[in-house]
Amino acid sequence: MRVPFLAGNWKMFKTVREALNLVEGLINDTKGIKDREIVVCPPFTALHAVAKAIDGTNIRLGAQNMYFKENGAFTGEVSPEMIKEIGCRYVILGHSERRNIFGETDELINQKLKAAISWGLNPILCVGESLQQRENGETQAWVGSQVKADLEGLTPSEVEKLVIAYEPIWAIGTGKTDTPQGANDTISMVRNLIAENSSYEVAQKVRILYGGSVKPQNIDNFMAEKDIDGALVGGASLEVESFARIVKFESVVAAS
Ligand code: PEP
Repeated sequence: MRVPFLAGNWKMFKTVREALNLVEGLINDTKGIKDREIVVCPPFTALHAVAKAIDGTNIRLGAQNMYFKENGAFTGEVSPEMIKEIGCRYVILGHSERRNIFGETDELINQKLKAAISWGLNPILCVGESLQQRENGETQAWVGSQVKADLEGLTPSEVEKLVIAYEPIWAIGTGKTDTPQGANDTISMVRNLIAENSSYEVAQKVRILYGGSVKPQNIDNFMAEKDIDGALVGGASLEVESFARIVKFESVVAAS
């Protein structure tokens, strides 16, 4: 049984004061929820303050990125140990904005995954196709190739530590979404790939999320799909009310 996973990616939004207001509201609105995992990923500057605010609550902390080296002359970068020390359990790696704006390659993401796991962090690995790939019918082949390249050389017990987010790039921040059925099909393909390359047991444990314009209005339909274990949420995680509603999704039971 995979525990549903709802994570908010705050991107480059929220000063420390704003981050505290948001997380305090979330703590209030999600009190007592134990059957799902709630994660917030603030910008680096707010991690420390948010870590203190969520101490002892049901909300967990993630960073949005890290470098793979332990330390050194890497101006502007942050190490796995630094985010671990500050209280992060999770780290988003391979987000399409990192890949497309900052030129991150599968090779670099693979190094980051290995480093994160070796420091006891759980990566949230993002994969997803462009609009052109989608229109060319290349979604599954592309996403499969990203998963294979990013997980190259990881042992089954390392793969087990991952959360994977399938995020079609054309759906991020656009208000457009994949259909729940379409997202479920791609996510099932990723789960089958993990079963082939690691083991069936590992594939049953890894949580695979959908991301791309998830909102209070559509979360219930995504969560009703068999293979969708949660959501990575950008825009709608920036307001208490909308993210709290997403966390409190209700499973829609298909009418028979
Ligand atoms: C994201 O940034 O990972 C994301 C899915 O953003 P949004 O929910 O705004 O589409």
